[in-house]
Amino acid sequence: MSGHYRSFKTVVYIPAAIADRMTPEKLEYDYDFIEKYIGLDKVYLETHRDRLDVNSEKILAIKSFLEGKGVEVSGGITTTIDDFEGAEAGKRRLFNTFCYTDPAMRTRLKEISENVAKLFDEFILDDFYFTNCTCERCIKEKGDRDWVTFRRELMKDVSQNLIVGPSKAVNPKVKVVIKYPNWRESYHFTGYVPEVQKDIFDATYTGTETRNPMYTDQHLPEYLSYSLMRYMDNAWPGGNGGGWFDTYQCWSVDRYLEQAYLTGFAKAKELMHFMWNDLIDNPLVGSMGIQLRKIDKMMDGIGKPVGIPTYIPLASSGENHFEMRLGMVGLPIEATPVFPGTGKKVLLTESALADDSIIDKLVSFVKNGGDAVITTGFFEKTGDRLREVGLTEARLTGRKLGVNRYQVTGDWAGYIDDKEEILFPEIVHGNNASWSLLNGGNGDYHFSLFLRSAYGKGRLYIMSVPENDADIYRLPGEVIEVYGRALCENVYGTGHNFSVFAYDDKSVIVYKYVKENNHPEKVTLHLKTEAKEIVNESNGMKYEVRKTVGFEDFEKDEECVADVYIEPGRFEKLRIV
Ligand SMILES: [Zn+2]
Repeated sequence: MSGHYRSFKTVVYIPAAIADRMTPEKLEYDYDFIEKYIGLDKVYLETHRDRLDVNSEKILAIKSFLEGKGVEVSGGITTTIDDFEGAEAGKRRLFNTFCYTDPAMRTRLKEISENVAKLFDEFILDDFYFTNCTCERCIKEKGDRDWVTFRRELMKDVSQNLIVGPSKAVNPKVKVVIKYPNWRESYHFTGYVPEVQKDIFDATYTGTETRNPMYTDQHLPEYLSYSLMRYMDNAWPGGNGGGWFDTYQCWSVDRYLEQAYLTGFAKAKELMHFMWNDLIDNPLVGSMGIQLRKIDKMMDGIGKPVGIPTYIPLASSGENHFEMRLGMVGLPIEATPVFPGTGKKVLLTESALADDSIIDKLVSFVKNGGDAVITTGFFEKTGDRLREVGLTEARLTGRKLGVNRYQVTGDWAGYIDDKEEILFPEIVHGNNASWSLLNGGNGDYHFSLFLRSAYGKGRLYIMSVPENDADIYRLPGEVIEVYGRALCENVYGTGHNFSVFAYDDKSVIVYKYVKENNHPEKVTLHLKTEAKEIVNESNGMKYEVRKTVGFEDFEKDEECVADVYIEPGRFEKLRIV
């Protein structure tokens, strides 16, 4: 790959309004600024958004300037449109997204696609390519179908016949890229259908703009910037063009940079900085340049990301982002829309229920020797069937109980008292029909938070999920260790507000988030393979490895563990030797 970096390209988006107002002086100044601080490899230059269609001469002048500097230039469109003459008025369209049943709007979209394809050999759709239109015409066209089915069929037609088809007719070479938003759990409600669009578009792009987890509209954990990238890689192998983040609601430099770190750790081919004007004279960009060089060096030649296979079918929702929060307490997560049929481990949340044959898959996975962990959200809706098959005798009582102490049972024994109360759903089980690996208690009562039963050659674990997702971050390290022992095949960590990114070449990246009240910490890495030592690649520091042994099912359960000192806002690349 030629350009400023070996592991990825740095890319900036120029929206239509910025292109329209661009002057030669501004272009020169802006280019110099971006080039100086982050290095500019590629630009997506937008021709249409809202009321604006940028005149072709203007687009070509910007394109020609940038290409003269050695920058690759592709096109972009945002599928939003103001009311115009000929289109039906009075529709309550969110963000001015199209009504895709309106004949005049359909004609406009086709023209917009043809226009951009005449100017570029590649263009991308910004993530306003959804529909929530419920106008009278859409209600009528939907007919007897449900909204999800109607929108799936509608957007298949629009993708084929108004975007990709017409653009390839005017430019057979054109590559059409669809960017998916950061809200995966709602794609199917709004006509985003990767399972269908994968066969229509040439490539995808992933929204990794996680911004502020406390206030952003999509309420996303930081870890999404990594795990949604991995999910889209698995959904569309080889076709994920890059990750896309922005400066919005990033009220610290670190929050802004973390989006790029995690997108980079997921091995994005392109890092899209949205958008041109937001970068200019912005101090965030100076820090970004320094960090991109470090990430590039770390990621150069690194192996394939690995983690706990978490099956999340396309067009699903339920217990949204739960697995991402596990990713933020040291468990590496590999989210995938493909059921890991031959694997040893799988995590299933409520989202997995979107797969009609999930129970059959789960039963055969466990019977053949796999370890499956299901959440209480999954269990709540499948309990009857799992009891009928014999995977468990346990049930949820429907009560939510406050837990202020934890007990790790058996040979990993641990007693953790006097913690702030967290609410959990209560699981009851048959003594010795299944075995509780972790109990939660309050007063003179306790119940299982992590329950194991055997079936065929494998095991089923039921994990009790806190009522408030954010409470996952307050779970003691000993609790995370119980999950890690059951779920991880290679490496995981115990500590606070940090992630472990694992790769199949024994590389590990650790990162501690900059959050309120976060501070440096000695975290523990748990390795499932034999290891002599752990080496920090950036400073050569070596960490001693010691062996710990637990017993599960009276089988030896060994781990090599090492303590590693990490600071918030600093990533470290480690090598297991
Ligand atoms: Zn409509």
